[in-house]
Amino acid sequence: MRPMKRIVIIVLVVIAVLGVAGVATVGSAFAGLNESKPGTIVPGVDLVKDGFVNVFLVDVDQGVALIDCGNDPTGKAIIEALGHRTLTEKDVKAIFLTHGHGDHTAACKRFPNATIYAFEGDRGLLEGPAKAKGALTKWISPDPSRVLTQVKWLTDGAPVTVGGVDITAWNIPGHTGGSAAYLAKGVVFLGDSAGSQTDGHLRGAPGIFSDDPAQNVASMKALAGKLEGKGVTHLAFAHSGWVAGTGELTALGK
Ligand SMILES: [Zn+2]
Repeated sequence: MRPMKRIVIIVLVVIAVLGVAGVATVGSAFAGLNESKPGTIVPGVDLVKDGFVNVFLVDVDQGVALIDCGNDPTGKAIIEALGHRTLTEKDVKAIFLTHGHGDHTAACKRFPNATIYAFEGDRGLLEGPAKAKGALTKWISPDPSRVLTQVKWLTDGAPVTVGGVDITAWNIPGHTGGSAAYLAKGVVFLGDSAGSQTDGHLRGAPGIFSDDPAQNVASMKALAGKLEGKGVTHLAFAHSGWVAGTGELTALGK
């Protein structure tokens, strides 16, 4: 075999092995997660599936607040869910972003009357052109069409009132610096900072997509303390099904 041909074959084999390993690593981040199903979590809080990511509608006076705005820039699934309430995209009063990754921010511009809220730790991701810092996400270039300006920055632990409904935000850095948890109507929305597994346990944010997995676990434990006495009935996640109660948050990372 000519040396050049041998080198080409070796390079192709290395690429193939790396490709298989990459797919396996990404796949393991999602394996064993509870499949999320669309529907009502508690009265006034619905899960809408937008492909592989969840968006939540929270009913408020004369409209809704959204938790995240999904991965589909057209917002089709969200607008359909609004239609079931005889509402339109103009009736979205606010969007609370769990973090600045593009699969949670794509359709925000489809809702012209919505005030967009996030924590300032994700300013670079939202306003661009900062890249994420995770082992995998740092290789992904941000999509300029998803850049958001005029985001209102949240205060840790402070509620925002939207159409008569209090939505409380906590900064839970780890998945990203500005990752947020929100509490509305007894449901805590955790974005990518945690997920529910088919074995009944919770897991932390997926390591390869996260800025600082150890900080994520510490944030979840701290959050569990902050949620005590707040009347939490359910936890909801961006890529897995919701669960009742909060008991497992403190056990993450054990
Ligand atoms: Zn994310």
